[in-house]
Amino acid sequence: MRSVFNFSAGPSMLPEEVLASVGADMLNYNGTQMSVAEMSHRSKPYEEINAEAESLIRELMEIPENYSVIFVQGGASMQFEAVPLNLLSGSSRADYIVTGQFAEKAYKEAQKFGDIACAASSKDKNFTYIPKNISFRENLDYVHMTTNNTIFGTRCSKVPATAAPIVADASSNIMGEYIDVSKFGVIYAGAQKNIGPAGVTVVIVRNDLTDKAVPACPTMLKWQTQIKEKSLYNTPPCFSTYMAMLVFRWLKKQGGVKTIQKINEAKARMLYDLIDNSKFYGNTVAAEDRSIMNVPFVTPSPELDEKFVAEASKAGLKTLKGHRLVGGMRASIYNAMPLEGVTKLAEFMKKFETENR
Ligand code: PMP
Repeated sequence: MRSVFNFSAGPSMLPEEVLASVGADMLNYNGTQMSVAEMSHRSKPYEEINAEAESLIRELMEIPENYSVIFVQGGASMQFEAVPLNLLSGSSRADYIVTGQFAEKAYKEAQKFGDIACAASSKDKNFTYIPKNISFRENLDYVHMTTNNTIFGTRCSKVPATAAPIVADASSNIMGEYIDVSKFGVIYAGAQKNIGPAGVTVVIVRNDLTDKAVPACPTMLKWQTQIKEKSLYNTPPCFSTYMAMLVFRWLKKQGGVKTIQKINEAKARMLYDLIDNSKFYGNTVAAEDRSIMNVPFVTPSPELDEKFVAEASKAGLKTLKGHRLVGGMRASIYNAMPLEGVTKLAEFMKKFETENR
């Protein structure tokens, strides 16, 4: 057992069991006497990894048959461009819900490609809430939303009502809580929080949306290119996909997404209860919109925040500094963060409060 807990927002902690098995496989994966890092992506062992990763994510997320799943490169940020290029061939209009910095980036990127509007934004209150009862324009190619806002610690628990296909950036809560895939047209996510190391990005696309790309869409950004080739059109991020497969096996062993969601809710509750019952710590997010993945909080002063981060690090509680747009601290408590790590953080918070009040 390692003696530190890493609260990084991503890349973030991975299950120790997965890391140990990567170590054991490093010189000899499955009797091949090769590492997956040096294996052809056209080899049988890699094709098996690619197929198992897909079949496990389908099972774990209960992805309906009429959706395709691809593993691509470029991060969630590349999907900010891929989304409009793959979908804007109809009315060339899309609405965006701007609930954080990444949502804003996605919105700005899309503006290069069509008639893009902001349907609602929570920027007026530094993204501390999720806008409700949003009205959208008519005849849209899609609506874009972010299901969990990593920096601000908010989550969108209700899917907005619209006739247009909904595209979701689920980078920071995919597989950490249940998502009803059938309510979405497209879901995409960078891997480096709940899925595995950085380098692989998951895109889940409803099949009727795979032929809507604008003519200028580059081959490598077109979802159809990788769908046709089962994510093997070009050299994929082999090692990251292999580690994602191991994380999926681990998650299945933990009981799957709905089971880990309960644990994640208990972890988040422990921190929010402590914050709410204290006059020392604060969190400004609207209670009903609080993320169960990213918990931002502050002490009474920036000086104490700095002291908190330094002393927590010495106590083995790492990477707790908040994002510069929010300040204070942020505890990212994705799937691989055990209850024990959050309990240790809560104990540390109580001790720090007593010593510095
Ligand atoms: N969307 C969200 C919600 C994020 O948290 C991040 C940061 N990981 C991104 C998009 C950008 O992801 P990437 O660094 O994989 O491009």
